Amino acid sequence: MQQICVLGSTGSIGISTLDVLASHPDKFSVYALTANSSIDLLVEQCLKFSPQYAVIRDEALYLPLKQRIESLNCTTEVLAGEQALCDVASAVQVDSVMAAIVGAAGLAPTLAAVEAGKRVLLANKESLVMSGKLFMQAAKAASALVLPIDSEHNAIFQCLPQPYTSLADAGVQKILLTGSGGPFRDTPLADLSAKTPDQACAHPNWSMGRKISVDSATMMNKGLEFIEACWLFDATPEQIEIVVHPQSIIHSMVQYVDGSVLAQMGNPDMRTPIAHCLDWPRRIDSGVASLDFFALQGLDFCRPDYQRFPALALATSAIKSGGTYPVALNAANEVAVALFLEEKIKFTDIAAIIAAVLEDWETCEPDTIAAVKEADAIARKLAYSVAAKFGY
Ligand code: NAD
Ligand code: MG
Repeated sequence: MQQICVLGSTGSIGISTLDVLASHPDKFSVYALTANSSIDLLVEQCLKFSPQYAVIRDEALYLPLKQRIESLNCTTEVLAGEQALCDVASAVQVDSVMAAIVGAAGLAPTLAAVEAGKRVLLANKESLVMSGKLFMQAAKAASALVLPIDSEHNAIFQCLPQPYTSLADAGVQKILLTGSGGPFRDTPLADLSAKTPDQACAHPNWSMGRKISVDSATMMNKGLEFIEACWLFDATPEQIEIVVHPQSIIHSMVQYVDGSVLAQMGNPDMRTPIAHCLDWPRRIDSGVASLDFFALQGLDFCRPDYQRFPALALATSAIKSGGTYPVALNAANEVAVALFLEEKIKFTDIAAIIAAVLEDWETCEPDTIAAVKEADAIARKLAYSVAAKFGY
């Protein structure tokens, strides 16, 4: 029986994870569930899965949550705050941690799981973008197994030989990172600035949380994934090519020196990579239907349009520049996306704000997580002051 901690259980990935776990009660039991502030859903999940712990990040919600849980005669113990997230993620009883908190907030608890040598199911790409080098070093030092939940990275993982040592040893020429191009792939450029949060969040193929949905509309998501792939597979930026594939049927590919290209395919449903990682190297039912090749309308491919998606170019150059550029990129993006979702800036301001932050950025090599957090805080402040010039 594997004991699972689900960080961010009330989000899109968290809900899909619990859906897979619910169909395998013989294999998995839930040790802890965590949320930022959605207590209604967290209570509902506690009643269904009876975890040992429920953690609410917002400490002001500790008492209301505790009262609700107790009034329902649920035996789950309630904890609150960031340290509690780290504690449940690193508890000795836990085998696997689903890291599905969104954004930089996921860094500390995800790293706590890594440092405790857990099997880490990594959805929180931002933690790797911010601290890739330190994160991978920590995983190696603690013998933590980091399994990629992001569908593209999970696809690449599935197309690589295991155990994997390096791209060179595996005979890999290139990683082909696919992306749909999001909801605005064909929108006239002049119309982009007027796009609303709801339009940006209406992804044609995937149903996801609002932050990653906006990232998909700007293609910053592909940029973050480009950086994520560099760290996960020890690849240089030159070894990764982004391929736009609107149907999201191929989830990414690996091109080998002998001319072979391996692709992982499936319906766009995150329960597939989640199930793959939960019981890897065994396969379990995810609840996702297999592809019906006779119903497919065709598969298309094209190069990314960097003029339409300036955020993508910013991300690929941030990883090439190295240092704290990716930290600044991620922080500025989180600030800009939040302001866009609050309807305080325009869609096209997102990339403009990130560009302005990176232009003035003074980089350094972050040797500690404290240095990463400091760079993150400076970049956020800078992003707000830049945003002020855009009318916020
Ligand atoms: P979401 O917004 O739906 O859920 C986020 C979860 O994190 C919620 O449970 C929320 O309570 C929690 N949370 C938010 N802020 C927090 C904070 N400050 N402290 C602690 N917890 C906090 O997001 P999502 O779409 O599920 O994405 C989660 C992560 O997975 C992101 O990093 C995203 O990039 C990645 N991811 C998501 C998908 C997808 O299909 N949704 C696919 C690939 C990768
Ligand atoms: Mg992805």
